[in-house]
Amino acid sequence: MENEVFEDREHVDNRIDNEEDNVVDGRHEYVELPCSGETIQQCQKVLEWKDGTGIEIGQEFVSKEAVQDVVNRAANKYCFATKTGKSDPSRITLRCRQFLEGCQWYLRAGKGKNSDCFKVKVYRRMHTCDRSDLSTTDCKKTGTPRLIASVLHEDYPAQLDTPAPKNIMGIARGILGMHCSYSTTWRGKKQHVSDVRGSPEKSTRICTLICTCFKVMRKVIIMDATFFKSIYDGMLVFATAQDPNHHNYIIAFGVIDKEKDTSWSWFLRKLKTVVPDEPGLVFMSDIYQSIIKYVAQVFPNAKHGFCIWHMSQNGRGRVKNEKDEAATKFRELAHVYTDHEFRTEYEKFKRR
Ligand SMILES: [Zn+2]
Repeated sequence: MENEVFEDREHVDNRIDNEEDNVVDGRHEYVELPCSGETIQQCQKVLEWKDGTGIEIGQEFVSKEAVQDVVNRAANKYCFATKTGKSDPSRITLRCRQFLEGCQWYLRAGKGKNSDCFKVKVYRRMHTCDRSDLSTTDCKKTGTPRLIASVLHEDYPAQLDTPAPKNIMGIARGILGMHCSYSTTWRGKKQHVSDVRGSPEKSTRICTLICTCFKVMRKVIIMDATFFKSIYDGMLVFATAQDPNHHNYIIAFGVIDKEKDTSWSWFLRKLKTVVPDEPGLVFMSDIYQSIIKYVAQVFPNAKHGFCIWHMSQNGRGRVKNEKDEAATKFRELAHVYTDHEFRTEYEKFKRR
């Protein structure tokens, strides 16, 4: 402290000297006054400072998002901001946002030849930018969904179930020292689920083939799907068949991306490893367009039919009165054998 006071006094003295020196023809020439007291240190350019990430060259991360998470957490704590340069499935480069002003901070991580891990290859950990500039512009302490997700990755590794957003807001406040809005927290929670399950482009699909004895089954496969609720985007799909005694067996089930054609194609190709594509094989399903399309592609020898019960339920939803009767009548109609009989019954059904 004494030193600072002494320095300050020195400045005051200089200032007086300067003032005296600058009196020209009775006019005072404008002289910018240096900062005084504690602000001297803030005004002086900080030459180099460490980023505080704790990352080392050669360190490996499971994904590029994991690299970004560590950098983002430090950026938030030590008040700097980064900009993503290159980012593709095999590499990522990050720079300090003030690299145009000359800051040398830089990180490059990439996948090795025989590895799926992201290895830090180039890393300049020292910032040469002015941190105080950042505190007023880029470095506003605001939470992002990625930051929330990074907190959840640590506290709930590989778990899909995490606390309610309101509780996560409290956890984030404790760990990150800042307030995150409800919607940011919600998106962070969703990001965490997405990271645990794998991103859509990586598309971690799960398929379990249960029955490998399809030979003894009737050659009719029932396909169905149901949507996951809330933030667990995706669908549970399954294929079942019956043995000659009408006992139902699940042949395969899987978790796939919602409404993605490629997911259905993938699931059916998996199924094909236990169900041979041969004439006489029939797929039954609700009217999911993707199922129809990809059954024809993956099993060109099989036939596809609509499930009468599902169709009757769809029809049930479209009539105003006597819904159950309409559904029952529809199912009866579907079981009529001759063309003539069908036309007569269908006319009656239409008049309803
Ligand atoms: Zn910097």
